[in-house]
Amino acid sequence: MARIDLVDLAHSYGGNAADPDSFALKPISMTWRQGGAYALLGPSGCGKTTLLNLISGIVTPSRGKILFDDVDITRHSTQQRNIAQVFQFPVIYDTMTVGQNLAFPLKNRGVPKPEIDRRVAEIAGLLDLAPVLHRKATRLTADAKQKISLGRGLVRADVSAVLFDEPLTVIDPALKWELRSKLKALHRALDLTMIYVTHDQTEALTFADTVVVMHDGRVVQAGTPQQLFDKPEHTFVGYFIGSPGMNIVPAEVGGREAVVGGHRIALQRSYDRLPPDAKIEVGVRPEFVEVAAPAPGLLSANIERIDDLGRVRFARVRIGDVKFAARVPQGFSISGNEAGLIFDPGRVHIYSDSRLVEGTA
Ligand code: ATP
Repeated sequence: MARIDLVDLAHSYGGNAADPDSFALKPISMTWRQGGAYALLGPSGCGKTTLLNLISGIVTPSRGKILFDDVDITRHSTQQRNIAQVFQFPVIYDTMTVGQNLAFPLKNRGVPKPEIDRRVAEIAGLLDLAPVLHRKATRLTADAKQKISLGRGLVRADVSAVLFDEPLTVIDPALKWELRSKLKALHRALDLTMIYVTHDQTEALTFADTVVVMHDGRVVQAGTPQQLFDKPEHTFVGYFIGSPGMNIVPAEVGGREAVVGGHRIALQRSYDRLPPDAKIEVGVRPEFVEVAAPAPGLLSANIERIDDLGRVRFARVRIGDVKFAARVPQGFSISGNEAGLIFDPGRVHIYSDSRLVEGTA
């Protein structure tokens, strides 16, 4: 296991090396804790695999350094880095048994047989592979094969980190939930540094203690699932995390007040020094805006439709021309198209050019 430091790390696949805006990975400095469970989350093309491949050594960075426990390994091979990897599709030996597949990475490194047997039994137990340990891998389902791949990634206790690149892609949707929970349990049991790449927020939020959100080649926020939900530092995080995503709407902001679509929203903090040329937006999650009967003093909105998600209902409304989502309280019955909106002032955030602005008390 290792602590991993990225120091001003950046990568360009042959674009203009002098122009960081064209980089697949823009310059980034951050630390990955020893033993941490990380998810690298973002849409297709945002640079997740590039960052993972830089950490594993498949790609050499155009700029910057990577340190494992303070040792500069930027020019080291994947093998020298002692990294285990699990890819989207199973990488296993069909002619070997499940047990032989799991033992392979250990045997390769000359681990003594009793230790191999102990470790294989532990991993097979954790992944529910014990009943098929003596079967040939070739006859198993795609799910079981990917479990073997996961097992092979996790079987070595001495790795610096285990990197997963969308490992549940081939897994049957019904089994995804089970395997996700299993990976989390494996992380607890094995105390390994794990980095898990995905574009699926549910996968990221259920697996990781720290979710690293990427957008357009940049890390826009790294935090616990709760931090990403409560206080998105970038509008992209607000929009990408949560279902529905955060309401992010243009606003005029001054002091403790925001004006949205000609209507006023009270703010808990004061915003007096916003840059005059910046794009100013209000961000508030639909969970923290409540639909109520129209009343004086409440911001008025037109209801366009109600989305019933089973446990919770969200109203899609308009404030002037601005579209908004708001929670419908339990038991509230909607009559007509008019509604009042109640904002939780402590949950209304202000963004300047997409970045969170901390107001003053
Ligand atoms: P996906 O989930 O689709 O794999 P990603 O978030 O992992 O996406 P990357 O694969 O890291 O994103 O790609 C980031 C950017 O770098 C994209 O614009 C992609 O087209 C580009 N890119 C990736 N690999 C190469 C390569 N080998 N040569 C040139 N450009 C590349």
